[in-house]
Amino acid sequence: MPYLTDPRELGSLIGEEPSYRASQLHDWLYKTPVLTAAEMTSLPPGLRASLADRLWPFTVETEQSADAGATRKWLFRADDGMAIEAVLMGYHNRTTLCISSQAGCALACTFCATGQFGFDRHLEAGEIVAQVQYANAWLRANPIEGSPQRVTNIVFMGMGEPLANYDRVRESIRRMIDHIGMGARSITVSTVGIVPGMRRLADEPWQVGLAVSLHAADDELRSSLLPINKRYPLAEVEAAAARYFETKGRRVSIEWTMLAGVNDSVDQAAKLAPIALRLKAHVNLIAMNPTPLSVDQPSPRPVIEAFAAKLDELGVNVTIRNTRGQEIDAACGQLRVRAATANPG
Ligand code: SF4
Repeated sequence: MPYLTDPRELGSLIGEEPSYRASQLHDWLYKTPVLTAAEMTSLPPGLRASLADRLWPFTVETEQSADAGATRKWLFRADDGMAIEAVLMGYHNRTTLCISSQAGCALACTFCATGQFGFDRHLEAGEIVAQVQYANAWLRANPIEGSPQRVTNIVFMGMGEPLANYDRVRESIRRMIDHIGMGARSITVSTVGIVPGMRRLADEPWQVGLAVSLHAADDELRSSLLPINKRYPLAEVEAAAARYFETKGRRVSIEWTMLAGVNDSVDQAAKLAPIALRLKAHVNLIAMNPTPLSVDQPSPRPVIEAFAAKLDELGVNVTIRNTRGQEIDAACGQLRVRAATANPG
């Protein structure tokens, strides 16, 4: 399959065709992607036919639209039955794709739909890049009105913890930069605080963004929400984030999912403020998307506003992010929950 093949090995897919066909195929895969091999018009019909069933490393199981067409969510199904989710969000000046890095996740954050299912496997670099190129091919055929007709920003905020799948994620980023032509600064890796991965990422040559999901500002609460905090406590996560900032000259962002009555008190905001100030980090607040497998609920809007006001009063840059695609379960792992609970076993 092309996407499970290193771009440098595309020559093996062209059979007896002359070598320039590999270059043409590379362009179809990475520069001007199309949804079907039949659309690769510069390739001879026989080659197109031989690629027809091998273009994508997954099939599209469901495709849903929300927010008047500005949000699109896909549940892809890999050959081995694994679910892969990606969400495309069109804005007036950018088109952001949220991608998955693992099928499932081992980290079991209490409020996360993906975490409730456990870990299935890592995604290959090709499966990660294919989410991007499927979205790009789809956008070429189905532009979102008022938004760029290509993926301009990528966030590793879908299913899985990207820094727990470091080498494959690293290779996928390399392909996005070297083959698709994306700017490193338009790619953001999100982590719940895998400290060794944060250190490795700081030593990579790219200026990719780093988003650190804190969700709590003391170890006791954080460990109750994110079991990984027992292994990498808050102080270590902060130190790794500070090193990232020093090494890259890029501020990290702090992500905070607002859970009603759990982590949305002004007391938590007051504890978060010094951490954010030390890191010079921007804080993003987002109401939890409810999932059938968690008792947690999103914080009410006035509570989120009070939390943001406290941070602001203490000098922290903060934004309340709007949730996208709630009617299509657009949060991490939710489509998969829906599919699994509709088809138990
Ligand atoms: S929030 Fe992220 S790290 Fe935590 S269980 Fe969900 S996918 Fe894994």
